[in-house]
Amino acid sequence: MNAKLLDGKAMSLELRAKLAERVQTLKEQGTVPGLAVILAGHDPASEIYVRNKEKGCAEIGMHSRTIRLEDTVTQAELETEIDQLNRDPEIHGILVQLPLPAHLDEQAALRHVLPEKDVDGFHLVNAGSLMNGVPGVTACTPKGALYMIKSTGLNLNGLEAVVVGRSNIVGKPMALLLLQENCTVTVCHSRTKNLAEHTRRADILVAAVGRPGFITADMVKDGAVVIDVGINRVDGKVCGDVNFEEVSKKASWITPVPGGVGKMTITMLLENAVEAAERAVHGR
Ligand code: NAP
Repeated sequence: MNAKLLDGKAMSLELRAKLAERVQTLKEQGTVPGLAVILAGHDPASEIYVRNKEKGCAEIGMHSRTIRLEDTVTQAELETEIDQLNRDPEIHGILVQLPLPAHLDEQAALRHVLPEKDVDGFHLVNAGSLMNGVPGVTACTPKGALYMIKSTGLNLNGLEAVVVGRSNIVGKPMALLLLQENCTVTVCHSRTKNLAEHTRRADILVAAVGRPGFITADMVKDGAVVIDVGINRVDGKVCGDVNFEEVSKKASWITPVPGGVGKMTITMLLENAVEAAERAVHGR
């Protein structure tokens, strides 16, 4: 089998065009949706992510503001910045770029963001909403990955879904979203025994491990949908957690890296920010 490509670039283009229309509607109603990004320190990968977020906002006509803090910033100073953004009526979404410098408490900083402005979906209230299956802000990467899975048109009811990785930002929320879609979900991690026995059962296989080419063809069921969340750099080139070359010959659908889940993550962030602005305006 030769897999069909789940093209994050093409899906993002389409979704961002629709978001631009929603932004235009908000503007006509007197509100310019605004996203603030707090960047503490000078991590080169974070600089790239923040630039991409600024570009994404510009593309759909949203206002964006980047607050740059030195890597010596204290927890109290960081939280004062967050407080100001929480109160700022021009800002509807707040994102604290991770990782923060090592001396800062990431979880405390994330908890400081108002849940309704938490466009990353990392606040405990939003994570808890997902856990309970009630409305809230969903983390961007798993939200984008689920969109891509649904775009295959498959009926997800009762399918075997295997998620490799159990991080709070990808693996766990991905598993919960698939559970909500009535998949039978298995979550694997570094202590999982006989990993390939689990992955080979998957109709939907999500890899969020952070190891280049970790998922090989012998670990994949014929005709599986394979979602590669990994973003790794090998000799300056970006690659995923899936060995694309061999797995694409076995899967029915597969996401490329780059141009797959990563592109959709920023699109979902923009969607979460537009939704936050709409909630602020319409009280929904
Ligand atoms: P993470 O917090 O490091 O989690 C990695 C997970 O993989 C952990 O649960 C770990 O298990 C598991 N793991 C590690 N080695 C394993 C092994 N040999 N067998 C099975 N499981 C193993 O990483 P993350 O934040 O979830 O990110 C995962 C990848 O996705 C990274 O490449 C990251 O750059 C990428 N990412 C991409 C996007 C995007 O927009 N596309 C967004 C976020 C992250 P334990 O829990 O037991 O340690």
